[in-house]
Amino acid sequence: MRHGGKRLGLVPTMGALHEGHLSLVRAAKRACEVVAASIFVNPTQFGPNEDLAKYPRNFERDCELLEKEKVELLFAPTVEEMYPKGVVTWVTVEGLSERLDGRSRPGHFRGVATVVAKLFDIVRPDAAFFGRKDAAQVAVIQKMVRDLNFGVEIVACPIVRERDGLALSSRNVYLDAAQREQALALHRSLTRVRKMWETGEKNATRLIAAGRDEIGREGTVRLDYFEIVDAENLDAVTSAERGTLVAVAGFVGMTRLIDNVVLGESQ
Ligand code: AMP
Repeated sequence: MRHGGKRLGLVPTMGALHEGHLSLVRAAKRACEVVAASIFVNPTQFGPNEDLAKYPRNFERDCELLEKEKVELLFAPTVEEMYPKGVVTWVTVEGLSERLDGRSRPGHFRGVATVVAKLFDIVRPDAAFFGRKDAAQVAVIQKMVRDLNFGVEIVACPIVRERDGLALSSRNVYLDAAQREQALALHRSLTRVRKMWETGEKNATRLIAAGRDEIGREGTVRLDYFEIVDAENLDAVTSAERGTLVAVAGFVGMTRLIDNVVLGESQ
């Protein structure tokens, strides 16, 4: 495809596809002549006590969904293909990898950066499509691409949500009906902070306090972090401005969920 001079887009995923993933596929379809998706549940981005073994897998259904979207290529390697015995080379984006999810999930972004670097080298896309749902991941990948001169355009796509605001996630299948309700606290906390900001509150400490308070009201959700940071370098800010990232992570039962908003952007 590349040799034919066609623009190739890549949509990396871990499968268990939902409308969030399909929105990336559609963005890739609009921007590129040929679209490749990858499905790979990447073991190196999971911690020892995380959900690698029970992560939802539904390969047949994923293939059907991708075919329906007219994706031309699917790359779905095995773990042994991606990590043959004895690999010792890793990509670490220093600093950024210890922020937000990287702080609560040590080694997570090393796994992400390494697998994405490998996917870029194998597929050699012109552009790659990622969801803003994983805002820290977008920052890490963008930095990696700049630092290592990958000639890949990184396209960050909007978060797809359920009607009531819950961000779509493959992990939502872990939630029972009660937990599904409890999980809405994440979106509520972001909405409260966004509205405060829109009505003039710019002080990050006060905005964070309001976000944490909203999570606290839903006693069952265990907060992991509520942070207000620069969207590019993920440094904490004292004053929230247009384009600043407000990010939250919390546990609903055993399920860790994340969500975020970028201030001043319609989402
Ligand atoms: P995953 O399969 O969870 O690794 O996600 C694959 C890609 O889909 C990542 O770039 C995610 O950010 C993106 N993604 C996951 N959920 C959503 C969502 N609700 N809206 C937009 N993109 C998403």
